[in-house]
Amino acid sequence: MTVTTRFAPSPTGYLHVGGARTALFSWLYARKHQGEFILRIEDTDLERSTQESVQAILDGMEWLGLNYDNEKPIFQTHRFDRYKEVIGQLIEQGHAYYCDCSKEELETLREQQMAAKEKPRYNGKCRDANKPKSDKTVVRFKTPIDGAITIADLVKGDITVANKELDDLVIARTDGSPTYNLTVVVDDMDMKITHVIRGDDHINNTPRQINILKALNASLPQYAHLPMILGSDGARLSKRHGAVSVMQFRDEGYLPQALLNYLVRLGWSHGDQEIFSIQEMIELFDLNNVNGAASAFNMEKLLWLNHHYLMHSDPAEIVPHLIWHLGAIGIDANTDKSVDLIELVKAQRERCKTLVEMASASRYFYQEFESYEEKSAKKAFVEGSENVLAELKTAFAQLENWEKEALHDVVKNTAEKLELGLGKVAQPLRVATCGSGVSPSIDITLALLGREKTLARLQRAIEHIGA
Ligand code: GLU
Repeated sequence: MTVTTRFAPSPTGYLHVGGARTALFSWLYARKHQGEFILRIEDTDLERSTQESVQAILDGMEWLGLNYDNEKPIFQTHRFDRYKEVIGQLIEQGHAYYCDCSKEELETLREQQMAAKEKPRYNGKCRDANKPKSDKTVVRFKTPIDGAITIADLVKGDITVANKELDDLVIARTDGSPTYNLTVVVDDMDMKITHVIRGDDHINNTPRQINILKALNASLPQYAHLPMILGSDGARLSKRHGAVSVMQFRDEGYLPQALLNYLVRLGWSHGDQEIFSIQEMIELFDLNNVNGAASAFNMEKLLWLNHHYLMHSDPAEIVPHLIWHLGAIGIDANTDKSVDLIELVKAQRERCKTLVEMASASRYFYQEFESYEEKSAKKAFVEGSENVLAELKTAFAQLENWEKEALHDVVKNTAEKLELGLGKVAQPLRVATCGSGVSPSIDITLALLGREKTLARLQRAIEHIGA
């Protein structure tokens, strides 16, 4: 049987990293077994579902590279006829019934049960009453009275729930629209899902879903419920801990590969290995090694991983991400091709932990800086600096090949000629060309900057010091 997994988000907000981890584990499991991975958008809650959220989910999946095998994402709202058909079948076969208990009646029942310290649950009043359908009736599933359901959870182990703990859940509302537990069951059955991998906030639904699947004579998938992700303070990870949406991680300068590597280790391990290529993740991932306990999100570790991937990835893979981030600060590196982006990545990656830092530290290669950083300028531009810069300018103007080695020689020869230490030449040159005292090594910086910008900026500094 083909292993088939699914990611089934409800489009009611951004794609949360917890959701992304669920998606990743489902995707890895399918890829490992040469199976299929389905993306299903659970948009039946019409009030809370939004188009922006659907887009955020699709964007997040694409950015992470978690491709799905269905041609287009499946939307539950397109499948209402099918849900109606199954609800009809369940009624016909005696597995479900119409219930006309009013809201008030159910509320009174609830209050009585609470007062008696009982678990609030439907009392089964309409279960055998053969009520006819009307615009006031919901449809309830007839949960078996006896017996128990054991979920052989691949992460949590066996979980047994007695049927008498479960009441007759509503599977269709008064307007005929299906509820969550019904749509999930129909979809998992129709899509031949073999492994349901999802957050453990759904664990209470699982025995109910298994009962409905059994009533439909469907084969049961295996279940793997993933523990929650916590913030550093032990509370469920939320906005107040920092970035939680996948696209926010992109905006803050993380590489998708770093986030994936971070997420795969959140609750899963393979010995003490920390770095996994996608291929290694696919080969090594197994649900058996997923930890049942909640894990805490550690931003510092993610940052460390991001720097690792910036340092060790093929620069060509980083370039498109850097272009995106340059775009975010108003630099169109697709049009302005004056800077060699591969060399730029190589020059900057040591000192930058995120792409936001890299883009920001690269601004002066593209744009004229407004003013010199005060401290560096004060230190580097001293009496006589304009002569040093003028000397450099003349030499650079005459240089045949604008290359790292030749540029280095100019700086060295100028220092020798003027009988100055190398720093006394390189530092004014750096501040003059970059606007501050921080840049990659001066020869690489100038090679990237190009002759035209270098000469213009030297002229600007000479005038600035002379003024
Ligand atoms: N739509 C559900 C959610 O976003 C997930 C349902 C499932 O995975 O079974 O929480």
